[in-house]
Amino acid sequence: MNIKDLWDDTFVNNKLNELYILEDKKDISIKEQLLIEDSIDTYTEILRILSNHLYKHNEMFDDDNLDHDIRTNLDLLQHYEKGVNENYIKRDKIKELINKYIKLKQKKQHKLNRINYSNQHKLNISKNMYRNFNIDLFNSIKEIENRNPSLFLFTNNYNRYGQCFFDVYNKTPYLLVENNNTIEDIYNITHELAHGIDYINNPDLGGDYIFIQDSPSFLMEMILTNSCIGSDLENESKKVSTNLFNIILDISEIVDIQIKTIEYIEKEKYISNNDLISMFPNISIDTIERVLSTNYSDNVRNLYSYVVASNLFGQYSYDKKEGSKNINKLFFRNNENNITNILHKTDMDFDNLEANKIKEKQKKILL
Ligand SMILES: [Zn+2]
Repeated sequence: MNIKDLWDDTFVNNKLNELYILEDKKDISIKEQLLIEDSIDTYTEILRILSNHLYKHNEMFDDDNLDHDIRTNLDLLQHYEKGVNENYIKRDKIKELINKYIKLKQKKQHKLNRINYSNQHKLNISKNMYRNFNIDLFNSIKEIENRNPSLFLFTNNYNRYGQCFFDVYNKTPYLLVENNNTIEDIYNITHELAHGIDYINNPDLGGDYIFIQDSPSFLMEMILTNSCIGSDLENESKKVSTNLFNIILDISEIVDIQIKTIEYIEKEKYISNNDLISMFPNISIDTIERVLSTNYSDNVRNLYSYVVASNLFGQYSYDKKEGSKNINKLFFRNNENNITNILHKTDMDFDNLEANKIKEKQKKILL
């Protein structure tokens, strides 16, 4: 099947109209109504993106927002600490995790070469990887394509960026993938496809799962690199894996600064720029402010997702057959959203996860 490079606005409009008609019906339940409203929002956003044809996601940081940003992060953290019972999402556990990571050394950062593949070609590389790796995952992609022939929107950008949108009422994903004409495009596609597969098999996303929701995507990126070994793409794909590894180490440092700042505010109620300078003398105030404006829970989510993905990849590298089974248990987990249960089912032991081991396990796919 040939892909469309653009979301089909007729298809999108039809879906939206169907939802409007459903919304007007009198006999729908509140739960159904909420799903319909969510889906309408999704389609409105999709149409907005289609009309702009450019998706803006980098907001400039404004100095006055510093206090507000820290407080938002503090609220989020306290909210999670109160609301979530799982020990590993609590602050002590996160500190333990980042302390392991911040000790690791960054690897060399690599610049990617340009490639001039068509969108169809890039998609085929990703889909072939899925097919060779695991037929169940590949079949899920086929199912998504059957539900939604207007699955992809490819746009051009110089940053790596992708997003998976969901029509939660019809359980249909839409993938936005920004091309930058490097091998990262194939990673982008692979990453978003994993979200789509995860979603159609577990449409009740929620609960704790949000903290490891990128695990399937990071994992498939690792499998993609693994599948490129011995091919023309080996070197470029290892560059992407190495750069991602560095990003995760960066995020550890960011979370470290965020937690220290949050703890200062909990004690002193207020933090000034001078307090920040004395707390972090080696970092410019500009950097600290930028760090504090990033979303704490997004960072923690990425960290945890990467740790879980690394561990599953380690299992797979050690024993392909058993490793694959556990990866299947993650993707086809029957709407299980409790992280402890997911880890247990996939033979993972969070407490003994060492950052050094992760590096060791990934040696094959890092440059
Ligand atoms: Zn993602």
